[in-house]
Amino acid sequence: MTRTEKYFREHMEEMINLMRSQAPEHHFEFHEPFWVLITTILSHRTKDEVTDRAARNLEQRYHDMDGLSKASYEDVLKIIDKVGFKKAKAERVINAAKIIRERFGGRVPQTIESLTEIPGVGRKTANVVLSDGFGIPAIAVDTHVQRICMRTGISHSGNPEDTEMILRRIVPEKLWLGLNPMMVEFGKTICKPVGPRCESCKINSFCDYYDLEKGKKGEGRKTNKNNVKKKK
Ligand code: SF4
Repeated sequence: MTRTEKYFREHMEEMINLMRSQAPEHHFEFHEPFWVLITTILSHRTKDEVTDRAARNLEQRYHDMDGLSKASYEDVLKIIDKVGFKKAKAERVINAAKIIRERFGGRVPQTIESLTEIPGVGRKTANVVLSDGFGIPAIAVDTHVQRICMRTGISHSGNPEDTEMILRRIVPEKLWLGLNPMMVEFGKTICKPVGPRCESCKINSFCDYYDLEKGKKGEGRKTNKNNVKKKK
């Protein structure tokens, strides 16, 4: 069956509890808004432990926004050496510190609109800063959240902003905080990009992809739907 938005609205709380029981949420080291922002900028396409180490080293070297805004590009580049796309990110973190000092009076803004004025900050990063840094209910949709939503049938749009809007409609607001870190972990360990562990997945009875796979296995055919890559 193809599930509807109404179906997911009715079952989302149960699904979240089940996902959480299989994948406790992972948080980066910092909870102070400025360092949440810097960590999230660094985290794109980079392993968690590398991101954590780079953010910690930046914090130890520059201490705060003022310090980082005056940092030299070469020094920052050396410190975040292992991070993916380090050149662009070195520039972005220094600029972010400068812009927050100059345009926002040294305070990390608390709205999506203002946060996304900072170059390199999109809706996903802005939502992480709101939720993890300020404790404001927000839902960040990254590649893991997007994939899980498309496979289950929660979203049929490849645009993360559409998926965010659907989640905002179907997830009770009391569950928004912590939703992204939990789903990221669920995406890394259960609903993996390659070879999802559907048989042991606790939400397989709520998942369109699982139904389709089961049906097609019954017909003895191989399938590849909704961005699921087969293990080689
Ligand atoms: S059943 Fe499979 S595709 Fe569906 S959410 Fe679970 S792991 Fe992902």
